[in-house]
Amino acid sequence: MATRNTAAVLTGPYKEPYTIREQLAGDPGLNEALIQIEFAGICHGDVYSRDGGGPAPATPVRPIVGGHEGIGKIMKLGVRTGNSNFSVGDTVGIAWRAATCHACDACLAAAENRCRKQEVTGLHRNGTFQTYVTFPVDNLIPIPSNVDRTAACPILCAGVTSYTALAAMAPSPGKWCVIVGAAGGLGHLAIQFAKNCFGLKVLAIDGGNPAKERFCREMGCDEYVDFNLAGSSLAQRVCELTHGGADYVLVLAPSQAAYNAAGDYARFRAQIMAVGVGACSMPLRPLLQKDLTVRASETGTREDILKALNCLAEGKVSPCVEMVDFHSLDRAIDRVTQGDVQGRLVMEMAT
Ligand SMILES: [Zn+2]
Ligand SMILES: [Zn+2]
Repeated sequence: MATRNTAAVLTGPYKEPYTIREQLAGDPGLNEALIQIEFAGICHGDVYSRDGGGPAPATPVRPIVGGHEGIGKIMKLGVRTGNSNFSVGDTVGIAWRAATCHACDACLAAAENRCRKQEVTGLHRNGTFQTYVTFPVDNLIPIPSNVDRTAACPILCAGVTSYTALAAMAPSPGKWCVIVGAAGGLGHLAIQFAKNCFGLKVLAIDGGNPAKERFCREMGCDEYVDFNLAGSSLAQRVCELTHGGADYVLVLAPSQAAYNAAGDYARFRAQIMAVGVGACSMPLRPLLQKDLTVRASETGTREDILKALNCLAEGKVSPCVEMVDFHSLDRAIDRVTQGDVQGRLVMEMAT
């Protein structure tokens, strides 16, 4: 019997809202599985598939179903999936990458997260804002049986992005890490990874709403600075609270002001890791004066996702999840655009 699929579909130009459609679920093709999606997270990346910008192609791929943080069950396996180690009934995750080229410099360096020919879930092929999706088995993520599936959703994109950026700095425990944009989907997980997996002291920076400080402190930060209240004394305030400056700076917010300030409160030979890149640039003067290292980090590899999920399974991170209704998807994406979310929005798909 054909399976009915409820899907949020983008059909028009960028910035047009989703249409909810009832359609038939597809059959898994070569190397694919059919997954019944149980939970789907909403990420800043989903703004690009609907509204354009960022990594979205100049001409939108339409029609398309967005979403790239999904947890579900394998309902059916297509042909040539026998070597995948997956079986019907397994719980799996679907994340940002649906396919990589296996041939570019990045892929050959085992950095498939930087593959420039990657196929992105919800941007180039149908994603997780639907009850059934067909997906390549090579990029399915096995989900440990002992983790909460709603909590696992945000780990697949926000969590792994924060984890990978921190891990790339190979931080020494006990040092100070400043996290900019700390109250958001990535930030609230970054605070927990930094504290509980890397043993760092965390100074969280965010602003605009006093509730953000309470939230960051609940997530475990040692110090908090509101960039609005601090104004031009931000760098001085951070240096005071960290007794000399940040050893590591993780910039999650694509804000030029954040990059302008980072070099000012970084300690000598500190590392600055850019995640929220946007169209930002980095002033060179502080690099010269303090011998700073500046790098950028992009999502994470499949192996990084498994490591981040392991931190979840060990209870070292606990995503803060707000459940939202599937039929309010556009409103939820608007809230992400406006920064009006503490933690992560997740939808229950299977009813
Ligand atoms: Zn994402
Ligand atoms: Zn590649």
